Amino acid sequence: MKMTKIYEGSYQWIMYGRDPNKPDKIIDTNQYLVRTAKRCLLIDPGGVELFAPMLAAVLHHAPVDEITDLFASHQDPDIISSLGLWDQALPHARLHASALWEGFLRHFGCDSIEYVAIPDNGGVISLDSVELQIIPAHYLHSSANFNIYDPHAKILFSGDIGAALEAPGAPVFVENFENHIEKMRFFHQRWMPSNQAKRVWIEKVRRLDVDIIAPQHGRMFKGDDVKRFLDWFEALQVGIAV
Ligand code: FE
Repeated sequence: MKMTKIYEGSYQWIMYGRDPNKPDKIIDTNQYLVRTAKRCLLIDPGGVELFAPMLAAVLHHAPVDEITDLFASHQDPDIISSLGLWDQALPHARLHASALWEGFLRHFGCDSIEYVAIPDNGGVISLDSVELQIIPAHYLHSSANFNIYDPHAKILFSGDIGAALEAPGAPVFVENFENHIEKMRFFHQRWMPSNQAKRVWIEKVRRLDVDIIAPQHGRMFKGDDVKRFLDWFEALQVGIAV
């Protein structure tokens, strides 16, 4: 599992991905960790097959009792089908996930972990003194879907927005935006159903101060590529299945 520090201050953001042992037919995913003094938030922890490598990777950064919080941007298996295993490993942790999806997500196994239901208008995750904003991104692509914005580190975890289908071992940041477009187009046109939801999200994100957009698949966008992505996404028609 490749590990990239994307923010380092009084706390850290770490991206995990590009698992070399991933079976070919499983979509590659990015997982993120926010590490504060005594707490860790694991963002979109991944599928059931990724549980063992992810647990090992996170234990490099924190003892098990400091992995206190999980977040699921939506209900998909590549996001959180590992829940039942985390439930056994971290019985005192909390899962922050949509209220709308609670009855569905509990099918993955959530007996010990506390389910903190996020209302449709979002909320906040507080880790020690770090405040992370939970931003609604409904219908992008799931009907109840959330991003995480860190106004201090200026990182927007965008879930499936900005996702790309990449070759194994691809770099973790976009290096040439024009070359990256074709890896993103199908993902957004086919998995995102609503042009209206897209416009609402873009308007909201344009008002935020963002240095890095960090999606759950593919590469992160940094600096000028953040605006390039927003402009490209704004012009793209989504909800196309032909
Ligand atoms: Fe998804």
